[in-house]
Amino acid sequence: MLKGKTAVITGASRGIGKAIALKMAKEGANIAIPYVGPKELAIEVCKEIEALGVKAKAYECDVSDFAQAKEVCDKIVKDFDGVDISVNNAGITKDTLMLKMSEEDFDSVISVNLKGAFNFTKHLCRYIMKSSAGRIINISSVSGIMGNAGQANYSASKAGIIGLTKTTAREFASRKVTCNAIAPGFINTAMTADLPESVLESVKSQVPLKRMGEANEIADLATFLASESASYITGEVIRVDGGMCI
Ligand code: NAD
Repeated sequence: MLKGKTAVITGASRGIGKAIALKMAKEGANIAIPYVGPKELAIEVCKEIEALGVKAKAYECDVSDFAQAKEVCDKIVKDFDGVDISVNNAGITKDTLMLKMSEEDFDSVISVNLKGAFNFTKHLCRYIMKSSAGRIINISSVSGIMGNAGQANYSASKAGIIGLTKTTAREFASRKVTCNAIAPGFINTAMTADLPESVLESVKSQVPLKRMGEANEIADLATFLASESASYITGEVIRVDGGMCI
């Protein structure tokens, strides 16, 4: 389905990004991974991807750093001879009620989650436009749709991602590049692992399907959106949340 394509997936050394990288690799895509954190994790994911018979390379890069992001994007394009798919997945949380939230808590979450997606779109768009079927996929959140107490920074960044997605879709449609957002609900990853059991139980009780989602369930949709089958879908925000936001 994605044979011969190159996908850049930020923050894919674990969690949802890793699941997307492995799924797209299984479908034949070569994968570039800009990452922060332990190098071993990123290298391990690259090895798993290469075992599927495609190319993979990790690049240390803080997505919120405009200049560093440009350097890495240019390097990726050189190493892979172009880019077809960009998945803006890297994200962080710094949850606390607004009464306690510091300026740093707010700025850092906006910088990684929202500016990071802008940086990669800005630096890769000229190359993605050269692809016969360019795709940009942004990972938002139900928090950006509903709001969530304790997540003023995070929900603002994820709502911003929705605006960025719609504008990107409009700006690049004439070049046959689509841009869509995925809004996951509560997904079983390191990001939610630290939540107290009582919070997790209460979340599950609010989800009509009565369970958390799995990273693979986000990866399946991302891979579909990257495929030829999704060529008439753009500017969409698709929830994968077990019905949480119905
Ligand atoms: P995760 O913490 O396992 O993964 C996030 C990844 O982003 C990590 O690999 C991390 O190293 C990377 N990252 C963080 N800051 C970075 C930076 N400055 N530069 C480059 N990479 C950076 O969490 P996850 O659950 O896999 O989250 C992936 C995406 O899905 C995030 O955007 C998150 O907001 C979103 N999301 C997650 C959930 C959930 O319930 N897990 C729900 C909705 C949305």
